[in-house]
Amino acid sequence: MPRENPFAGMVAGMSPDEFSLLSSAVAERRCREEVGFGTFAEAAELYRPHPPCPSCGCGSTWKDGREENGTRRYRCGACGRRYNSLTGTVLEHSKSDMPTWVDFVRLMRFNVPLDAIAEACRVTHQTAWEWRHRLFATVDGYQDRLVLRDRVWLDETYVTDTDLTHGYGEARKRGLSKQKLCIVVAIDVHKNPVAKVCGHGKPSSRRIRDALAGNVAEGSTIVGDRERAHNALVRAVRGTHEAYKADTRDPVYLERVALVNNLCSWLKRYLWRFTGMDMKYIQSYLNWYVYLFRVKQASERWPEIARVVRHLLMAEAHFRSKT
Ligand SMILES: [Zn+2]
Repeated sequence: MPRENPFAGMVAGMSPDEFSLLSSAVAERRCREEVGFGTFAEAAELYRPHPPCPSCGCGSTWKDGREENGTRRYRCGACGRRYNSLTGTVLEHSKSDMPTWVDFVRLMRFNVPLDAIAEACRVTHQTAWEWRHRLFATVDGYQDRLVLRDRVWLDETYVTDTDLTHGYGEARKRGLSKQKLCIVVAIDVHKNPVAKVCGHGKPSSRRIRDALAGNVAEGSTIVGDRERAHNALVRAVRGTHEAYKADTRDPVYLERVALVNNLCSWLKRYLWRFTGMDMKYIQSYLNWYVYLFRVKQASERWPEIARVVRHLLMAEAHFRSKT
């Protein structure tokens, strides 16, 4: 005989308001036990304990009570500005709660389609869209700070704009190179990846240099098949060029060649999931991909969800709709 749940009767007898309160208390606790925080306030205490003034940057601020949702309020000692611990982050003004955001982050780690996210998080499609772009805002320029060094493998892959914006089966002109968007992909011997949009059609040596010069340390060895196309980059970083070696006994070398090739095909498959995407956001999708790649690499040392939420709270970012 199944044991009766001692709470079943109590829950069944609750009013809708009481049930809604109970549900959010349960979600909060589950979230806290799973990732270490259950509310915006708790996450902010952990990852944003002394936020400087968003107006003047001053660090000497006073604690000034709490908002309704429990986040701490501050007042700037220099300019008098009042703000709270979420001000200036993409979580500012969120009408939702932490457990819902944690579910959202969980799904964004697997790049789940927007409709599925909206349904699973019980938010509208519009909200899910906006949240995705809030995440993207936190990785804006993220790749500009990545510097690959020592030995760097290069490759290019192409996606067709019309495939991504319209999906399969739409009439499109094949073979028109200007419809093919080039993505240059690089990975170094330390397994740091970079993926950048590099214009339409086969890229010139100069375009590759402009896309990647800031991401490759001086003196690096650029490994790739297209020696001439990589010339300008090699010169810009005062590096050397090396052709792929098909027969090498170095397992690290072979693994990186495989990695850069895989990265290209993973990227394509990743982008295919977002059929219907607006091409002006493609670099944002690539930034998110590279960010997640690095988060996953370190997931044993650092649980992924907590790390992404920490990132959301540390990044000063605003979502703006690109027009
Ligand atoms: Zn101030």
